Amino acid sequence: MAGIAKIVVDLALNREFDYLVPESLGGELALGSKVMVPFGRSQRVGYVVGLADKSARSDLKPVTSVVSKTPLITDTTLELARWMSDYYCAPIEHAVRTVLPGAVRRKKSGFKEMLYVTPSDSVTPDTADSLRKRSPKQAAVLESLGDGMFMAELVKASGASAQAVRALEKKDLLHIASRSSIRDPLARHTILKTQPLNLMPEQKVALEAIKAMLLPSTPAGPKDNHVILLHGVTGSGKTEVYLQAIEHVLAAGGGSIVLVPEISLTPQAVERFVGRFGETVAVLHSNLSEGERHDEWHRILDGKARIAIGARSAVFAPVKDLRLIVVDEEHDGSYKQDESPRYNARDVAVMRGVMAGCSVVLGSATPSAESYANAKSGKYSLASLPHRADHRQMPSIRVVDMRIETEREGRVNVFSRDLIDAMRDRLNKGEQTILFLNRRGFSTSVVCPKCGHVAMCNQCSVSYTYHRQTEELRCHICGGVRRVPTHCPECGDPAFKFAGIGTQRVESIVKQIFPEAGVQRMDSDVTSRKDAHWEILGDFRSGKTDILIGTQMIAKGLDFPNVTLIGVIYADLSLHVPDFRAGERTFQLLTQVSGRAGRGDVPGEVLVQTYTPFHVAVQCAQRADFEGFYEQEYEFRKELCYPPFSHLVCLTVKGTIEEKVRYAIEVFSKNLQARLPDTVMLSGPAPAPLAKAKGFYRYQLMLRSRSVRSIVGPVRAELDSFKWPPKVSCSVDVDAISLM
Ligand code: ADP
Ligand code: ZN
Repeated sequence: MAGIAKIVVDLALNREFDYLVPESLGGELALGSKVMVPFGRSQRVGYVVGLADKSARSDLKPVTSVVSKTPLITDTTLELARWMSDYYCAPIEHAVRTVLPGAVRRKKSGFKEMLYVTPSDSVTPDTADSLRKRSPKQAAVLESLGDGMFMAELVKASGASAQAVRALEKKDLLHIASRSSIRDPLARHTILKTQPLNLMPEQKVALEAIKAMLLPSTPAGPKDNHVILLHGVTGSGKTEVYLQAIEHVLAAGGGSIVLVPEISLTPQAVERFVGRFGETVAVLHSNLSEGERHDEWHRILDGKARIAIGARSAVFAPVKDLRLIVVDEEHDGSYKQDESPRYNARDVAVMRGVMAGCSVVLGSATPSAESYANAKSGKYSLASLPHRADHRQMPSIRVVDMRIETEREGRVNVFSRDLIDAMRDRLNKGEQTILFLNRRGFSTSVVCPKCGHVAMCNQCSVSYTYHRQTEELRCHICGGVRRVPTHCPECGDPAFKFAGIGTQRVESIVKQIFPEAGVQRMDSDVTSRKDAHWEILGDFRSGKTDILIGTQMIAKGLDFPNVTLIGVIYADLSLHVPDFRAGERTFQLLTQVSGRAGRGDVPGEVLVQTYTPFHVAVQCAQRADFEGFYEQEYEFRKELCYPPFSHLVCLTVKGTIEEKVRYAIEVFSKNLQARLPDTVMLSGPAPAPLAKAKGFYRYQLMLRSRSVRSIVGPVRAELDSFKWPPKVSCSVDVDAISLM
């Protein structure tokens, strides 16, 4: 025997198992190899996550065979998986699963390609005609094809079979390639190669700081400072700095990873990287077909692509000679995975930097409280871009006090007079407006204007959301649907029906006020249709749409030069959420949203409607006073020992019978308390803010301490011995960013 292999089996199991490595396979096994192993009575696929000389057990079975010899992951990625399992209190199996993308894990036969068909150069106007007699189906295909279409669409449009399309490919009359929507816009036109811009002085300073960090580490050991926080206002040219830093890395033979929030991974954003670096950019996007993901992954693994750009999971991309990881919009909540392992890609990036000896750039206009604290304490370096590139002005922010407005009008209006006037002004000038409604949280409700009664889903203890098109109340947690009562169930007031403010309602009011305007709405209801997202943005870019209405989806990263007005319908929506980060989120949202205005030659204006005009978040956003906001915020966080002054771990227990859930968490909490050092604060158990979801009762424990280990160690130990009652389950969220 050639030693012991530690293997994770591709099943939802929480452990790794030891297997013997037969002499015959010894040379073929490496970390990350895919193998077949006997498991129970069957053979299972597994991955080698460790190699050892001996095992604590003596009854080991041998590995059956090696499926794929080349390791699909690098040593660092495996080390990263182990760290994640440890830090985030997650089973190693979950962690390994996360670092190995599904498309790579599964067999090739499982691929579902998105095929895209384009006509070849040999097609002439008469080709279809000459085909018509012998094969009318093929003629129909060519006639339907136009400039190009997805296979599925083409088959439908022509009434022919996929076979007919294949036959045409054989005749060299068309091309079939796998493709998805993200690449589609890239492939349709040639992307012009861009040249590095002449940097502004501040950009230069930032780039030099990054370059200095990129210098090879001294032989004395790893660099003690490998992270830089790039705090640059929206439009300050952070992306250009990333591009030139990456160029520098490429020239030195290194590779890079660029992380962006999923929603910002637009063709527009990808184009900036492809335009500068061409083929060497691999895009990892959830819209890719499995085949494409597989191809992109291998392009990276083989070193053909030196730059990987993608959302959260791209942090695991097997980039060769990784020298730099860029995390754009580092404060963004979408970097946190909401299932086990509940990792934050930003923090994993920093850890990967430590392990791989590479540098990390965290960029944002509104850095998170955590990263900013690290920069202030000197743990990270800090570079600032306080001005817009091209010296464009920052938009002016005007706060509209809705209390005064309501008093003056004698009723609650969705739009203040100021906002209507401002919109009319833009329409007259042919400029564009974005209306922003942060619909998430508890405030999407239908509230009776007279008695305050709120329509709630009794399954989930959250308020219903009003959907105008279907005139229904819908629960966004369980999907439950109810007709809107015609009168308030409490007091009978008929205005009840119209009290729910959602994007749909905003849209219909805007259409009433400005019937001549082009109005579009972009929220998760609309964009659940594939490609809708790009279409809507395309219409807005081309000027077909005058007014775009949206949720937080539109708050990020978009760059439209003709937008000169942003209206925030109710800033309060994100403030009244039971979470200590509510103020920070609101400040970030308002700042990000106002960054969307005035990206062209005309200065922008932001109108913020609110019932709490003196809230710190609103006030500081208005003055663009980042320092001032965090000064106050840190005081409050320090007082209550919230992050960044502690690590926060949230433990949630759920089950269908409330008594059982409460009893279980009480016992667990008592046991855990006995294990915890004094330095850990334990709060609860208490019902979670989202006390019931999809029929499950939810209770929480909140743990805070300066050291994660002092929490996770005891939690793990208690979890290992604790017996949960049937149908009661527990999840652990380390560095939780949402306390729902
Ligand atoms: P950010 O990423 O900070 O929001 P961008 O990189 O998108 O900013 O830059 C905003 C705009 O300014 C873009 O149109 C970009 O091309 C332009 N820009 C950036 N740097 C420069 C520069 N040094 N000179 C001229 N224009 C620049
Ligand atoms: Zn519900």
